Amino acid sequence: MSKKILIDLLKLRDYENLLAEGIYKSPDFNNEFKTIRELATFHFTCRKCEAAPCIDVCPADALEKDENGIINRAINLCIRCKSCIAICPFGTLMDDLFEKKPKYNFFNLKDDGELKKFVDACPGDTVTFYEGDEDTENNIYKLIEKVFVKEFIWEH
Ligand code: SF4
Ligand code: SF4
Repeated sequence: MSKKILIDLLKLRDYENLLAEGIYKSPDFNNEFKTIRELATFHFTCRKCEAAPCIDVCPADALEKDENGIINRAINLCIRCKSCIAICPFGTLMDDLFEKKPKYNFFNLKDDGELKKFVDACPGDTVTFYEGDEDTENNIYKLIEKVFVKEFIWEH
């Protein structure tokens, strides 16, 4: 049976300079490899501001919102200036979110073997194997196939 994992974004925020990044590529995200933290943060932590200052401040026009208010960063345009992180009034974007990291720290989450390595490489119990399904009462949401995220979601 295919493995599933649960990423606890609440706990992950306590760690700086994370050594492991799960990555995921999909046509839904311009076929670019995205870190799972970036996808999860824009999906669940971001408050989806109507007049999003992060988009306005970006000097490279790298951020855009989809029809559900979810922001996508065009990696090929982003110059990693971090202006969007600094201006977000809610501090939802983690400081190191868009930093370049050495290649050996990336784990492709579509591959079950790498999924396990990712769990092992993440600190403490921030990322664990998970047998359940989406469970909104306990703040657990499905992000992509095999990946669930625990986060408090801001209700407008
Ligand atoms: S400013 Fe922050 S909370 Fe608002 S849309 Fe941008 S990232 Fe999300
Ligand atoms: S880091 Fe800079 S260039 Fe990249 S999305 Fe944020 S504001 Fe735009």
